[in-house]
Amino acid sequence: MKNGEIIKKSVSKVNFRLLPLYVIFAAAMVVFLIKLINIQITGADYYKSASSVTHTRRVTVEPVRGEIFDRNGVPLVTNACTEALLLDYEAMPSRASERNAAIAKLSGILRKYDCGVNTVMPTLGSYPHVAYDDEALRDASVRSRFTRFLTRYGFGTDIPCVELYEALFGKLGLLDDLGEHVYDSETEDVIIRVLYTLDVYDFAPGNPFVLADDAELKLITEILEANCRGVYVKKMFTRVYHYPEAASNIVGRIGKIPSDKIDLYLAKGYSYDATVGLDGVEAAFEDVLRGEDGVTVITEDEYGNIIESHTEKEAVPGKNVYLTIDIELQQTALSALEAQIKKIVAAAKASGEPDSGEKADSGALSVVSLQGEVLALATYPTYDITKLGENYAEYSSDPRKPLFDRSLFGNYQPGSTFKLATTVAALESGTITPGTVIDDKGKYTFYEDYQPSCWYVRGHGKLDLLEAIGKSCNYYFFEVGRLTGIETMNRYCSALGLGKHTGIELPETEGVLAGPEYSATVGEIWVPGDTLQAAIGQSKNSFSPLQLSCYIATILNNGDRYKATILYKTCNYSGSDEQINYPKVTDSIEISDRTVAAVKQGMKNSKEWTSDTKNYKFDVGTKTGTAQTTKTNNNAVLVAFAPYDTPEYSIACVIENGAKGGNAAAPVYDVISHIYGLDSNGAPKK
Ligand SMILES: [Zn+2]
Repeated sequence: MKNGEIIKKSVSKVNFRLLPLYVIFAAAMVVFLIKLINIQITGADYYKSASSVTHTRRVTVEPVRGEIFDRNGVPLVTNACTEALLLDYEAMPSRASERNAAIAKLSGILRKYDCGVNTVMPTLGSYPHVAYDDEALRDASVRSRFTRFLTRYGFGTDIPCVELYEALFGKLGLLDDLGEHVYDSETEDVIIRVLYTLDVYDFAPGNPFVLADDAELKLITEILEANCRGVYVKKMFTRVYHYPEAASNIVGRIGKIPSDKIDLYLAKGYSYDATVGLDGVEAAFEDVLRGEDGVTVITEDEYGNIIESHTEKEAVPGKNVYLTIDIELQQTALSALEAQIKKIVAAAKASGEPDSGEKADSGALSVVSLQGEVLALATYPTYDITKLGENYAEYSSDPRKPLFDRSLFGNYQPGSTFKLATTVAALESGTITPGTVIDDKGKYTFYEDYQPSCWYVRGHGKLDLLEAIGKSCNYYFFEVGRLTGIETMNRYCSALGLGKHTGIELPETEGVLAGPEYSATVGEIWVPGDTLQAAIGQSKNSFSPLQLSCYIATILNNGDRYKATILYKTCNYSGSDEQINYPKVTDSIEISDRTVAAVKQGMKNSKEWTSDTKNYKFDVGTKTGTAQTTKTNNNAVLVAFAPYDTPEYSIACVIENGAKGGNAAAPVYDVISHIYGLDSNGAPKK
């Protein structure tokens, strides 16, 4: 019992709160257990063999992966620990009779605990009532492995199942010298299945076979006490997703190294069977989360019994990653998007007017601090990351495309939210001043061959810049765009980050900044009329919600463009040695206080003069955009910052087929209310 107790003490610490402590022992335990088994089995043999030839081998110990938290320390992805039973090739007896005896003993115990064994033999039932599993054999890889096995053992591929078993009894050493069966048929069946599986999966040194991946403690104890040779226990860590839907587009998954990246990882020192981040944060911060492999050196006697082992290098657990994301804010954004989309659809249906928002079904919202920290990256609809495998067909055929991350990859025309970029270019280049008055006559007639109109077809009459932003006058910006010129406009737009990667550590779209440069890349010629359209956020302009929020932040920072980041800090697995990821300015263009003040005042006017935004009591700036996607459908776009006097956050929201910019206001207000603890009207909560 003594051995059992030792083991019980160690494994009973499997509790993920204690993981940091536990990890330190994990690697040592594996070797200790192998050693224990071997000493128990061999007993006196051990001493006999001690003076014989020995050899050593080095075993890689995979580190525990770092965990992922939000900015407030709320766990997003953590580790769960399970005990796996593995068969170690080098600790298995080489003689068939001993090997079969070891598997038989194991099988008896596993059966007692009703623990399934991971075998892959394509047969059903047990001898003599055994038949091929035709359904399993329909799988090409199962069939090819089976054929390979038959060929290797000299069987024809058409051998009847019962005959195959009868032949295997002899070939696998399951009969004694008199040709009698050594084991009962159920045990024989397990032995055949295990040996088949080991065979087709190339059981070899360094490639242990996972017999059972989640074994209970009692079972492990009994196996160890029963001296089951060749078996060892290994801690397996699996990921637990605490927000499987809300954070599905951010956290990402882990898995075996994808075949196209094998060389890359091997060059970094990974082993073939290592687990790596496949996408999202798991992939972006692989180097941080991974940790360092450990190495254990095992010395064995000529029979494969472990007689000594020591740790050459401790495995170093990966670091924990704290994201800039506020998961509660992310959830608020998601439910706000969902609620608003339903509301838009209901209102459109009630109005009976065609194309008034009844097709709204998806959207995205991004919240960044003025220093580039990403607090929310919501994309709706979302999906359950833990069910991606089983529901993939459903998710990928959903016309609303839940697997598409609109916050990072959505290429949306900005519509009038772009007029703020045009404003910066026009003011900073000295083309106009905030007081410049332009007389909007409705139709813009400067060019003979191209005469677009303001959305207010009668014309807004005389207005200055601040009124023009507030009323979103197209005519004013046609004129300002023409006077500024596309080159000057794009010099500023580009510095504001439009049509450029934001710097976030996750993959994202680059967007498109309309202009002669982009047109040339797609074989089109830029004409003066294009400049008018570009100035009001149309033409080829398209950006992600993240880019839109970053661009407003850059204006408010007087032209300092911060690198967007999702990384708040890292620390050791134990929580020590914090490394803060400080904000970094990646690009800078001088924007005067006067220009910033004009943009802010223009956005304040827009907020006050737009029916969907004016009733919110908290002092913020907003600008709507209504972007035409087809002849009849418009996306709703809105950018905002808060609070007005000392801006801290910039927000962008897009609702596909949301009909008009004002329809994107409610989710933005919901997230601002969440941040500042306000009620839904923007008033302080009582
Ligand atoms: Zn106008």
